[in-house]
Amino acid sequence: ENVLELREVVAAYGPDMEPAVKGVDLAVPKRGHVAIVGPSGAGKTTMFSLILRFLRPQNGELYLGGRPYGEYTHDELRAHLAYVEQEAPIVPGTIRENLLFTHPDASEEELREVLGEVRLLEKIDSLDDGLDTPLSSTAVSGGERQRIALARAILRSPDVLLLDEATAQVDALTEAAIHDCIRRRASTGAVVTIAHRLSTVLDADTIVVMEAGRVRAIGDHERLLATD
Ligand code: ADP
Ligand code: ADP
Repeated sequence: ENVLELREVVAAYGPDMEPAVKGVDLAVPKRGHVAIVGPSGAGKTTMFSLILRFLRPQNGELYLGGRPYGEYTHDELRAHLAYVEQEAPIVPGTIRENLLFTHPDASEEELREVLGEVRLLEKIDSLDDGLDTPLSSTAVSGGERQRIALARAILRSPDVLLLDEATAQVDALTEAAIHDCIRRRASTGAVVTIAHRLSTVLDADTIVVMEAGRVRAIGDHERLLATD
């Protein structure tokens, strides 16, 4: 059964513009990791914008849990989806404060569990100076910020976790932590990632190769390499 489906979705950024997504079908099963790969301009980010309903399709329809998007309010929809941006915003303060900022009701146990999962538990009370001030010696690194954003996203146990280029510019420890986290989350829910390079998502259950707004190929990496 699919948690998320796109059927013949066409989307453009303006009425007279060439569509950025040109008739895409996509099925995201309730469990597993679906990776969308392709060169810059392929339409990957636009797919995320459609899934998050930042952008409405010109044609076609999206479904969540078998129901068309139109039946959901914005809040209902967003309760099922969690999104980790490429450059996720961080509030000034500790890692604990960052999680509590978006999830004020989270228990200590929940905080510790997700921070353990992204390997930040020992830094729970480390300070970050925020995005607008120079980082101090106690500040967390870019990779740690990425893991804070991921911890924030998984704290809600979303049905669908969306990660945009999560491992594009991070240190090896962060890459490994994110990778493990994706695997663990994909065993109980759906994870959808965007990646420029196929090499970073070889273990995804399904790889969707996009090019110029269309799906060019789909399958696990063995199948994709066999048909290339
Ligand atoms: P990436 O390949 O990492 O998605 P891009 O350079 O394609 O990066 O896009 C960076 C940002 O600029 C995205 O938010 C995208 O929506 C926006 N963008 C890309 N192309 C255009 C465009 N032609 N007009 C306006 N915004 C654009
Ligand atoms: P990718 O994420 O694969 O790099 P995008 O979805 O960002 O691709 O872009 C797909 C197409 O849509 C590109 O031609 C890009 O220039 C265009 N595009 C993306 N964002 C915008 C935007 N905000 N306004 C206008 N065009 C955009």
